[in-house]
Amino acid sequence: MNNFGIILLILILGLMQMSCTQQLPQFNGDNAYKMLVEQCDLGPRPPGSAEIELCRDYIIEKLNEYGAEVKLQKFHAEVQGTEFEGVNITGSFYPFLSRRIILGAHYDTRPWADKDSLPENHLKPVLGANDGASGVAVLLEIGRILAGEMPAEYGIDLVFFDLEDMGSYEDDESWCVGSEYFAQHWVGDKPEKSIVIDMIGDSDLRIPMEYHSYHNSPLLVRQVWDIAWQLGVKEFDSRIDNAIHDDHYSLIKAGFEAIDIIDFDYKWWHTVHDTPDKCSAASLQAVGQVVVNLIYQK
Ligand SMILES: [Zn+2]
Repeated sequence: MNNFGIILLILILGLMQMSCTQQLPQFNGDNAYKMLVEQCDLGPRPPGSAEIELCRDYIIEKLNEYGAEVKLQKFHAEVQGTEFEGVNITGSFYPFLSRRIILGAHYDTRPWADKDSLPENHLKPVLGANDGASGVAVLLEIGRILAGEMPAEYGIDLVFFDLEDMGSYEDDESWCVGSEYFAQHWVGDKPEKSIVIDMIGDSDLRIPMEYHSYHNSPLLVRQVWDIAWQLGVKEFDSRIDNAIHDDHYSLIKAGFEAIDIIDFDYKWWHTVHDTPDKCSAASLQAVGQVVVNLIYQK
């Protein structure tokens, strides 16, 4: 080998090393937190309100900005005696790829703060900084990343579910109406992985393995939690905790490989105090980066 050959070899080895140590895309927790606040600035966003329509427009506008293929799934539902026109929103990235991941979050907020310590607040709406806006904010920040960098193997569908949070505590079936409709009307091959993100904005974040997720999709739980631990994200806890009837359960019942990333231990759940000051960019960052690594890691 002459000198030129040696230099070329060194260059090639250098490039190979660079590609091995190449950083995965970086989730920006501050961006996500800003989008959490922007949703809350619209006001509480219960089904049937003008504010949920503004939130829908907000999500669609962001998805269009990021170049996603946007689809609206409209459906009629009666929840607790009231009729609603629900809308699930899907933003698809790289729709030509057959291997797919669904990332889901609900964008409606509960019309009643019925877990508030003050009974006079029980008929007031929840602002839903954590319970609603946090999951949407993480998904939209991932959308920003997807607009810039293509995952190696997967197309991604960001799905924003309507009518998750209008249920009665006595009736499991009255929750997650939008995701139930979505799962029951799915046509074609199912995605390889589905991950629902809910209530992960709490500044005091701790995410146990949710019971249904662990028992139905143990490999996906293991994969996500392993990524978290590799990243040093200690908020992901190895304890298996409550069975939660969240949007992932609609998917599981319909045969999807689905899990929920949720911190259900939130003092302000379904109170008028579920406001942005209880949430942090760091918590959104922790969860967002784990999901980004799942998408981009080879
Ligand atoms: Zn809720």
